[in-house]
Amino acid sequence: RVLVGTKVDESHANWVTAYNMLTGIRVSVSRTNAKLDRELTDADFEAKQKSTFDITGNELVPSAKYDFKFKDYAPWVFRRLRALFRLDPADYLMSLTGKYILSELGSPGKSGSFFYFSRDYKYIIKTIHHSEHKFLRKTLRDYYNHVQNNPNTLLSQFYGLHRVKMPYGKKIHFVVMNNLFPPHRDIHTTFDLKGSTIGRDYREDDLGKNPRATLKDLNWLRRQKHLELGIKKKQLFLEQLQKDVVLLKRLQIMDYSLLIGIHDISRGNEENLRDKTLQVFNPGVEKTADDDPPSVIMRTPSKMENVRKARELREKIRAERPVPIGQALDKMPDELGDSHTRPGFVFNQDDGGFRATHENNQPADEIYYLGVIDCLTHYGMIKKIEHFWKGLSHDRSQISALPPEQYGDRFYNFVEGITMSSEEARREILRKEQE
Ligand code: ATP
Ligand code: CA
Ligand code: CA
Repeated sequence: RVLVGTKVDESHANWVTAYNMLTGIRVSVSRTNAKLDRELTDADFEAKQKSTFDITGNELVPSAKYDFKFKDYAPWVFRRLRALFRLDPADYLMSLTGKYILSELGSPGKSGSFFYFSRDYKYIIKTIHHSEHKFLRKTLRDYYNHVQNNPNTLLSQFYGLHRVKMPYGKKIHFVVMNNLFPPHRDIHTTFDLKGSTIGRDYREDDLGKNPRATLKDLNWLRRQKHLELGIKKKQLFLEQLQKDVVLLKRLQIMDYSLLIGIHDISRGNEENLRDKTLQVFNPGVEKTADDDPPSVIMRTPSKMENVRKARELREKIRAERPVPIGQALDKMPDELGDSHTRPGFVFNQDDGGFRATHENNQPADEIYYLGVIDCLTHYGMIKKIEHFWKGLSHDRSQISALPPEQYGDRFYNFVEGITMSSEEARREILRKEQE
């Protein structure tokens, strides 16, 4: 794992699209980066820059393998956004286009979007619907201002908005955004929470087949999970979430969710490395059940030692068997080391995430990697119709297509609710009853 997904190579159905996306990004982003920085103007928010790629190339555009057209939207705004999110311009291009390696996440869901991870797992390319694209352009100034005023926003971090078009092909719009989950830590459980209960259940029976499935609201409630944050962290988190939700409500956005990846420190990173690991790291340890191998990386003495051993192990694995499908990274997790921690960002302060804390603010045994995703759905006509039809058959407050104001309130209240321990919740219920 760390490496979900299928490697997109030349035999992959979407190879040409992926190749063109990366070529377009490489050329257009480096073009903007090469210029002297300047203040944004109104026109920057509406700007789009078109390039036509072909096999010969010209003075403006280098030659490419395939013919295609590429559009870069609001390049200066996104350059600024990348700077606000403190990405290093060279690293950004290197991660995405240093080598043309992407991995594709599963098959597209309901929405039909495709997801691709950069080879170092830091960035996600998501194809978006034309309506989402139009909506992001329309609200870009609000988003930009929000990021400027809220450097710790929990909302998806957008680093680029582009379009590719192949001859006779459809226009494909896509965004580049942050991967909330780190390359160097196993995520043991994932939840996608909306604060709704209808249809928000992953069949737990299927977890055996797919242990890394994304769980939903009902799974969270059934497990009596609780987002364990001490007073300080809880306040930071809820205050930021509140501000983000205010923006989402104002922009009439809905259908977004809180994505939470949980790294369990007591389990460590074992599942990356499986049985081979045991032989190399702990020759004396007997192999246990596959589901529960002892944590190896976390227990070895020093980080440098880990890096060295990981490298040896990687060579060993490479020599013995073909690289598994989906092995998009060519570094072992610990070699990537601290490059994923993002100093200065509140919700990335602990090993790239936000460590659980007890009520007394002492650290607990989990690290949360979290953020608000899928926030480009405008409450437009489609949702109104959905609301109408679903409203005929269900309790209106429980369906997911609520008007944005109610959606936002329900979402925030749910998340606030899950930050309470069961004692707190009990006290809160008693308090409400007395009111
Ligand atoms: P739908 O509209 O049907 O919900 P979608 O195609 O718009 O689907 P998203 O809801 O954006 O897709 O994401 C689907 C899943 O992809 C999430 O539940 C999560 O597992 C993963 N994912 C999306 N964005 C990120 C991100 N920024 N970091 C890590 N994982 C992500
Ligand atoms: Ca979604
Ligand atoms: Ca969506």
